[in-house]
Amino acid sequence: MGRAAGTRPGTVATGMTSRAAATSTGRPLSFLTGIPVDRVKGIGPRTASRLADAGIHSVADLLLHVPRRYLDRSQLFDLSDVPLGEEVTVGGTVLSVTKRRISRNRTMIEAVVTDGTNILTAVWFNPYVKVREGSEVALSGKAERFRGRLQMKNPDLDALDAQDSLVTGRVVPIHPSAGGLGPAQLRRSIHNALTRARPVHEVLPAEMVERLGLVDRDRAFTGVHFPGTIEDADRARRRLVFDELFRLELALALRKHRQAADATGIAHDTGGGLVDRFVTALPYRLTGAQRRASDEISADLADPRPMHRLLQGEVGSGKTVVAAAALLTAVQGGHQGAVMAPTEVLAGQHYLAFRELLASAGLGPPLVDPAAPAGMTSLFSNGDHVQGVRLALLTADHAAANFVAGAAKRSDVVDWIASGSVDLVVGTHSLIQDALSFARLGVAVVDEQHRFGVYQRVRLKEKADGYDPDLLIMTATPIPRTLAMTLYGDLDVSLLDEMPPGRMPVVTTHVSRTAGDEAGVYDMVRAEVAAGRQVFVVCPLVEDSDKLEAASATAEFERLAGILADIRVGLIHGQLRSDEKEDVMRRLRAGEIDVLVATTVIEVGIDVPNATMMIIEDADRFGLSQLHQLRGRVGRGAHSSTCVLVADPTTSEGEARIAAMLATTDGFRLAEEDLRIRGQGTVFGARQAGLTDLKLADILRDAEMLVTARREAFALVGRDPDLRAHAEIAVEIRSILGEDVEWLLRS
Ligand code: ADP
Ligand code: MG
Repeated sequence: MGRAAGTRPGTVATGMTSRAAATSTGRPLSFLTGIPVDRVKGIGPRTASRLADAGIHSVADLLLHVPRRYLDRSQLFDLSDVPLGEEVTVGGTVLSVTKRRISRNRTMIEAVVTDGTNILTAVWFNPYVKVREGSEVALSGKAERFRGRLQMKNPDLDALDAQDSLVTGRVVPIHPSAGGLGPAQLRRSIHNALTRARPVHEVLPAEMVERLGLVDRDRAFTGVHFPGTIEDADRARRRLVFDELFRLELALALRKHRQAADATGIAHDTGGGLVDRFVTALPYRLTGAQRRASDEISADLADPRPMHRLLQGEVGSGKTVVAAAALLTAVQGGHQGAVMAPTEVLAGQHYLAFRELLASAGLGPPLVDPAAPAGMTSLFSNGDHVQGVRLALLTADHAAANFVAGAAKRSDVVDWIASGSVDLVVGTHSLIQDALSFARLGVAVVDEQHRFGVYQRVRLKEKADGYDPDLLIMTATPIPRTLAMTLYGDLDVSLLDEMPPGRMPVVTTHVSRTAGDEAGVYDMVRAEVAAGRQVFVVCPLVEDSDKLEAASATAEFERLAGILADIRVGLIHGQLRSDEKEDVMRRLRAGEIDVLVATTVIEVGIDVPNATMMIIEDADRFGLSQLHQLRGRVGRGAHSSTCVLVADPTTSEGEARIAAMLATTDGFRLAEEDLRIRGQGTVFGARQAGLTDLKLADILRDAEMLVTARREAFALVGRDPDLRAHAEIAVEIRSILGEDVEWLLRS
């Protein structure tokens, strides 16, 4: 067991150098990140460059390239009594290999294998399978009897080279191939690397390793690559998974601590009358969850430390008013509020919603000369002189303000934001463009955060000069708790876990177009419209092409306008000008459109409580979270709603998504299902740039370990905020997470 790094005599925290040296108790992982992989015996420059292509540059990278599975020789079946039709693994020597063309574009490879008890023929319909006569192999798959002979079709093939002294043990590690190197070659290279690198130095405090029942680092690396038993491999993997999650959570904990320590935020005045007045004027009472979230936000706002809070709530749970209250807290203290939305349509809708809410509370539009100097503080500190809130909209090619009739000039709005003549601004990415500056940004709200990269949220905050505004991130994407911990581990979370009263659950059905079910759907549409309700029809997703998507929506619009001749059908898609989009949304809200044909521009946030039917064409092609968002566009009022999934799935994933949508309306369950179907890789994709993909850990399977790692990381940073007494750990985070940690450590 390695000794506690921080307490080892002679170890002094010397700031954050990026590399450590070898110590008397072994070589730290951070030291091994500095040793290029071509220093390993048997790896020449060519192999090294192929490994580099696979992301393996250093000895540490190589050691972290762990087996994807293990073959337990004691579990191999004898060919003489292999059960048929079950997943099994068998082993043997290849007697002969034949390659045969079976049609113009199909090649079959056939290998005859024996283990001394019987003979089996393995066939692959894949010309790239590499199997050599005389070699020892393991075959995993289902054995069957074909014309009296034992056969396996397309089994997994693993080399079990008899010459390889590394695989004489009971358990054979199967490393995923990398840079074109096969398992045997990797096994050899890793063995050589490990022999030189050992012992691997322990960096965790001995107390922690013991308390968590982990094996030490050295045993973990040996055990994961060359285990004596499957149990060894499991214990080793468990330790490495912990390390990976612990590094990530430590980085998040450090970042969070640093944010809190920089008390350069604003202590907002939360006692002013503006928010009360706004809440009292609402046409409904806040739900318990909304009140709780508002109180949590309020406490953050009153505190001089900047808020970093995630407001998470199912679609329709009422996040908008909670955000509005936070923004008005800033305004009543003389600061500005900003809301960044992911789409123009949504920004426009927020603008309209805020304008109405403010007007009904008697807070707008104020009749002021926008050029007049700012001075809201004095106006609001005296309840008699509540004047109103100057609200503006700013998107790429559109601008408006509640104190200007018609459209405002974009350049004017930009000036007003800079001079402080606007109190509250709703916008898109336009809000983070370089040319825009705020006079005194106090609270920034980022809506539907999953659409933005993490960098954008940082940039909006940076719009305040010399201090940190409070930040509220709203997401309607239910994120599994474990994923939220890694993606948003540095944020506090408020949860709206209660829906406004009177909501009716949305009934979901699946119809097949090929089965001709569509006529029935149109009857349902006519019935809804006759009852005074409205209907959305979402057209097939066209990946990465707004143009094609718009074209398909236009075609669908024309088709439906023909079928539903007596019904007012509208159309909205991403290719319309923003004033056109806005006009469509206005007519929809005014009830001048009965059926709206749309692309996924309506995916997010659209709030039309009178809409009670959502039809999604080719629903199997949408992602599960997207389907959930779309379904969330109905069921927002007091009337019962339906969601019709029109789909003839062609893939098992498509089928799984439809099944999941039919099975539940619970966003969290769908999010977990989504993770299961898609795998976490895509979740950590470009959208969340800045987070290294986890190599070993699987946030669903290792959820418990993640919770542990998070608890330990936050506790450690709580005790030792600069990791002064744990310098080796700090060095390791920097050396392993590399550039990503620079992002994590930015506030
Ligand atoms: P989301 O969380 O999806 O952003 P919204 O804020 O758009 O939800 O709210 C959804 C709908 O619920 C809106 O029409 C809003 O006016 C209404 N709403 C919000 N809070 C309440 C409440 N406490 N009681 C009744 N209706 C509410
Ligand atoms: Mg919303």
